[in-house]
Amino acid sequence: MYNTKAYAAASATSPLAPATIARRDPTEHDVQIEILFCGICHSDLHEVRSEWSSGRTTVYPCVPGHEIVGRVSKVGSAVTKFRPGDLAAVGCLVDSDGTCPPCKAGLEQFCPNLTGTFNSPDKHLGGVTYGGYSESVVVNERFVLRLPSSLDLAGAAPLLCAGITTYSPMRRWGLTKDKKVGVVGLGGLGHMGVKFAHALGAHVVVFTTSPNKKDDGLRLGADEVVVSRNADDMQKHAGSFDFILDAVSADHDINAYIQLLRREGNLTLVGAPAKPLAVAAFGLLFGNRSLSGSLIGGIAETQEMLDFCGAHDITADIEVIPIQKVNEAYERLLKSDVKYRFSIDMASLKSE
Ligand code: NAP
Ligand code: ZN
Repeated sequence: MYNTKAYAAASATSPLAPATIARRDPTEHDVQIEILFCGICHSDLHEVRSEWSSGRTTVYPCVPGHEIVGRVSKVGSAVTKFRPGDLAAVGCLVDSDGTCPPCKAGLEQFCPNLTGTFNSPDKHLGGVTYGGYSESVVVNERFVLRLPSSLDLAGAAPLLCAGITTYSPMRRWGLTKDKKVGVVGLGGLGHMGVKFAHALGAHVVVFTTSPNKKDDGLRLGADEVVVSRNADDMQKHAGSFDFILDAVSADHDINAYIQLLRREGNLTLVGAPAKPLAVAAFGLLFGNRSLSGSLIGGIAETQEMLDFCGAHDITADIEVIPIQKVNEAYERLLKSDVKYRFSIDMASLKSE
């Protein structure tokens, strides 16, 4: 066991503050990673503030962070995939049983014995796991991803959650050219969704509540940007979408988007607002439309997504911050004031 510096919240109402946490010494299948950048996902904020208490209780102290890129500093004796000095990345998952049907299907995120990167029971040290707002992390090599060396590291970190969460449903629903695709909410997830849908050749329409994001939407790869508070502009798209990805973090009217789907069209929710959303049945009944959800993605698909990003030169648009600005960043995230993901430069933790 060794100590490492981190930022932790002591309760749902406390700001994140410097802390010291314990990490295990790498066992034979483990990779120890010096963390270089960690993205700030809205899920970090939901979880630190225990907003999902109906589904998942937060244990304190809580060290969030599941968009991790870094450099391997040590490997266990049986590790074959990585060597010290290699670039490496870790997303939302750090372990699973490897034997259940979801694991065998490459869907480790649904393993009943899953270990999440933070706030999950830690089977090595007891207590809960601690995430990427820290100097280093120790992870079983099965859950460590290879990072294409061409990608900017700070911009690559958000791929580990915002990237895979938007890539996975777009692949599952067969997005190709000739498809009309909507992305609701131009935040961390949404802007990655726009990049992927554009790279897959779809006709992409962004729906935003923020008129000042219009030009960015087009620059990121959208063909059209609709300010969703304008009912007339929304109505112009009625019944026309093959697929809509909803990446909104707060309560909103999804019926306004369901009615934009064409016959057999699908709306997939990736946003996880704390409050349940109301769905009008007739919006789904007319046109045999469907409403789905999607949770991050499995390890093999995450690697596929990273390789896709390497081939298409895709990274997140980021604002790099020192860890000392993390509480300010959370307040700005709540105001949709980030273009489009905060990426924490972990070197800043050394001065704590
Ligand atoms: P984010 O960067 O804060 O983006 C959320 C966007 O939602 C905002 O930029 C804003 O876009 C829109 N929005 C915010 N408040 C709104 C409101 N009151 N009404 C309408 N639109 C609003 O968050 P994120 O990190 O992308 O995460 C988005 C959601 O996905 C969170 O709930 C997060 O927990 C969840 N998530 C789910 C998964 C999964 O596996 N399914 C993975 C990661 C995250 P505009 O300014 O363009 O309107
Ligand atoms: Zn996330």
